[in-house]
Amino acid sequence: MTDLPARGQMLDVVIVGAGVVGCATARELSRYRLNVAVCERAAEASQGGPTKANTGIVHAGYDPIPGTLMARLNVRGNAMYDQLTEDLGVHMEHHGTLVVAFSPSERGHLEELLARGRANGVPGLRILERSELMELEPNLSPEANSALFAATGGTVEPYELTLALAENAALNGVEFLFEHLVRSLEAIPGGWRVNAGERVLETRFVVNAAGLFADDVSRMAGAGDFHIHPRLGQYLLLEDRADYDVQHPVFQVPTPMGKGIVVSRTPDGNIIAGPTADDVQDKDDLATTADGLARVLAGARKSIPCLDTRQLVAEFTGARAVIVGHDDFLVEQGAPGFFNAAGIKSPGLTAAPAIAEELISLLKGAGLGTTSNPAFIPINARVPLFRECSPEQQKRMIAEDPRYGRIVCRCETVTEGDVVRAIHRPVGARTVDGLKFRTRAGMGRCQGGFCGPRILEILCRELGLDPLSVTKCGTGSEILAGRLRPKGDNDA
Ligand SMILES: Cc1cc2nc3c(=O)[nH]c(=O)nc-3n(C[C@H](O)[C@H](O)[C@H](O)COP(=O)(O)OP(=O)(O)OC[C@H]3O[C@@H](n4cnc5c(N)ncnc54)[C@H](O)[C@@H]3O)c2cc1C
Repeated sequence: MTDLPARGQMLDVVIVGAGVVGCATARELSRYRLNVAVCERAAEASQGGPTKANTGIVHAGYDPIPGTLMARLNVRGNAMYDQLTEDLGVHMEHHGTLVVAFSPSERGHLEELLARGRANGVPGLRILERSELMELEPNLSPEANSALFAATGGTVEPYELTLALAENAALNGVEFLFEHLVRSLEAIPGGWRVNAGERVLETRFVVNAAGLFADDVSRMAGAGDFHIHPRLGQYLLLEDRADYDVQHPVFQVPTPMGKGIVVSRTPDGNIIAGPTADDVQDKDDLATTADGLARVLAGARKSIPCLDTRQLVAEFTGARAVIVGHDDFLVEQGAPGFFNAAGIKSPGLTAAPAIAEELISLLKGAGLGTTSNPAFIPINARVPLFRECSPEQQKRMIAEDPRYGRIVCRCETVTEGDVVRAIHRPVGARTVDGLKFRTRAGMGRCQGGFCGPRILEILCRELGLDPLSVTKCGTGSEILAGRLRPKGDNDA
């Protein structure tokens, strides 16, 4: 990792936000000889917005209205995923996606989506009749009538992709500053002064990838005056069981509020059902509600009637960043040297690599130098987690490093070796959630009840932390409230 330039020296680009868009942009910029920093208010990449809480579908591109930026970047982003996930060692499932019609009248919507998809240039679309559909998805409701199959649709774990993008960007010289909330921006000759709390950075260009807060950041720069409101999506996460398993993400026909309730299997092997779509005011309120989860369940059971809530693992909410009065992505130069990537709602995960390309082309147009970085390494050397390995590989891992022989998380078979590695990777884990999203420790049935204390102990040991300072997800979420005995007392 390169050091930031000394005080007074200018960076080339500061990116505000380490969600999937900020991290994809950072990685794309690291192809060039540039000094780039990412300021993120959360304690870890991917954790400050919907990047960690979405359905994880790599959308084919039949849904956006033809001619929109969203349509173009969705289709382009989808086409980039194969190479991107291969380079970064990220697991992607290529199974295609289904939009199911439950009545002959809904079939008209499928025809409309098919026509839209073709206009958007989406390959591999076709309508399946009931018999073929039921063969593909045996647990589907008998009410299902027909479906649009999109062969280029797939799934990823969105946080896995984002952490891998951040890691690759850091490997190639990008600096990440976590728990650095950008509070103000000031135009200076030839660029911007970025006030990120304890750090003040000077940079030629700023990229605003602040998700739900992109309107606030844009206003700091005196740029485009738009307003973002959150549209909440609640989810249920269940253990995968054969009697309600799905092979493809199963959508229903979309509504004006979104793509409707989907039932899908995540690459890590959970069944995910959701999201709802409710417009709210408070950007920080991500509470689930009994009513919301009941609507998720009812909607999901319309597609997969035998969904069994006894297998519930977790419930969570993500918030779409909806620009009032602008039903498209906003990727633009908002002020000289200041660029917005705003209103990045679904399919923003899919489009992120293409949004990054779009931003770089705008930055080049504004004078960003793009001499290739001769040391650019596109590939992350991914070391598999213990549970992903064959018994023979596992034996070898334990022989080489006995920490792989100590299970930390029983539900998800995560070893001490996995945890230590996740801490010491580039842009490594610093929090309990950071470890959870990198290794799945705490993501299983007991939700960290068993492994929590062990994870805290390992974080302290590896990072030299005081136990009282270890957080779930950054300052303000400390796990321990205080000591029963003064520090230094013999604990034996
Ligand atoms: C319910 C739901 C389902 C979805 N499903 C899909 C799907 O299946 N497929 C798909 O393609 N897309 C999907 N999406 C869309 C996708 O999740 C988003 O488009 C994407 O995550 C947006 O990424 P981002 O980087 O723009 O924003 P974010 O993830 O919000 O990242 C922005 C970051 O900026 C940080 N930040 C904000 N303000 C500041 C500041 N002042 N200083 C420093 N940091 C700051 C935040 O902490 C955050 O980490 C879904 C979205 C939702 C909500």
